[in-house]
Amino acid sequence: MNKTMIKEDLQHIWHPCTQMKDHETLPLIPIKSGKGVYLFDFEGNRYIDAISSWWVNIFGHANPKINEKVKKQLDTLEHVILAGFTHEPAVTLAKRLVALTPEGLQKVFFADNGSSAVEVALKMSYHYHRNRGENRSLFLSLTNSYHGETLGALSVGDVQLYKETYEPLLIACIQTPVPKDQSRQSAREALEALSDLLDQRGKEIAALILEPLIQGAGGMHMYHPDYLKGARVLTKAHGIHLIADEIMTGFGRTGTMFGCEQAGITPDFMLLSKGLTGGYLPLSVVMTTDEVYSAFYCDYNEHKAFLHSHSYTGNPLACSAALATLDIFESEDILGNNKKKSAYIAEKLDRFTALSNVKEVRQTGMVTAIELEGYRAEERIGLKVYEYGLKHGVLLRPLGPVIYFMPPYVISYEEIDTMMEVAFEGIRSL
Ligand code: PMP
Repeated sequence: MNKTMIKEDLQHIWHPCTQMKDHETLPLIPIKSGKGVYLFDFEGNRYIDAISSWWVNIFGHANPKINEKVKKQLDTLEHVILAGFTHEPAVTLAKRLVALTPEGLQKVFFADNGSSAVEVALKMSYHYHRNRGENRSLFLSLTNSYHGETLGALSVGDVQLYKETYEPLLIACIQTPVPKDQSRQSAREALEALSDLLDQRGKEIAALILEPLIQGAGGMHMYHPDYLKGARVLTKAHGIHLIADEIMTGFGRTGTMFGCEQAGITPDFMLLSKGLTGGYLPLSVVMTTDEVYSAFYCDYNEHKAFLHSHSYTGNPLACSAALATLDIFESEDILGNNKKKSAYIAEKLDRFTALSNVKEVRQTGMVTAIELEGYRAEERIGLKVYEYGLKHGVLLRPLGPVIYFMPPYVISYEEIDTMMEVAFEGIRSL
């Protein structure tokens, strides 16, 4: 079963983010089922999903509450076009998201994955300025940022590994330095650079897009909330939108429901996906203000409408998974329990810091990163830790030399011990 599946897979499937030749030596792992933090293969092995299957899963695999709600929805309405029609799961979800997100975000535009949400926000921001008679076709993002891999999203990202090749195809975007670490001083320095740049080029820029507090694919780089606070003030002063890409940081990852909350700010656009459906189904939203919405609201022949669509916009099954996810947040003290779990993880980090190949250990909420040093890129050190993890029952998927934990919130203390022990031995034995 296993061998046939691997063979047929490699005959037909081109996997994401993969040099397919690697699979000549690195075996693919067919997964039979999932339960809680575990993924089970066909050989009787289980793996702790320490990266929440690309940061999406927050309440475990096959969560009974989410399963129940999706199954019920399946027998009611699987999908309907969202133009000219609407449905109860989308309406209820929109209403609940408006209540949950920072004050002032009143409108919800549905899309179906993270990159699409980024595309929507970029287009909306550009179009907003245009509808008001201003031509602002330049975007601004932080160095080391990541916002997805469709062309617009790739344009505003700054991870060269993904971007370099496609440079001639990209839209105009410049970068301003991300704070170099989590200190207030670094936030202050980065804000000075942002202020100078906006003084020079502010009038050309439609929006500043950033990942609040944690830059995910940029190696779990973390910075102080003061930066968000200052960036909000500066962008407002220059008539530039602030787009908070909370696709990875949203739904409790940073310790608060949304990263923006730690700075007490309301962005002009907030992008949510991944944890939104508990990691079940593709769905994303772009939340924005009445002010942005009203710049598009007029008679049809004034040609100001936002004519953007995706077939699966606001899919009812995905919305029902999202509603079940919000129910769990409401009925249990998830953030309170996560606080205890991240403190528990923090207590056990000293032994990592003490290793000679560890450069830095950092943590924000339910994300913990261990950065290694002393290796060349060609050594593919992350891959070695990945293979060690799999052999010992933990799915770690390092970002270059950065090993990180971003487990589903249902992880138990015992499972945290196992996850950390395997990572420690994987790093120590390099
Ligand atoms: N923004 C951020 C911050 C992300 O982490 C990701 C995905 N890792 C995306 C956007 C893109 O989302 P998707 O993979 O669903 O297109």
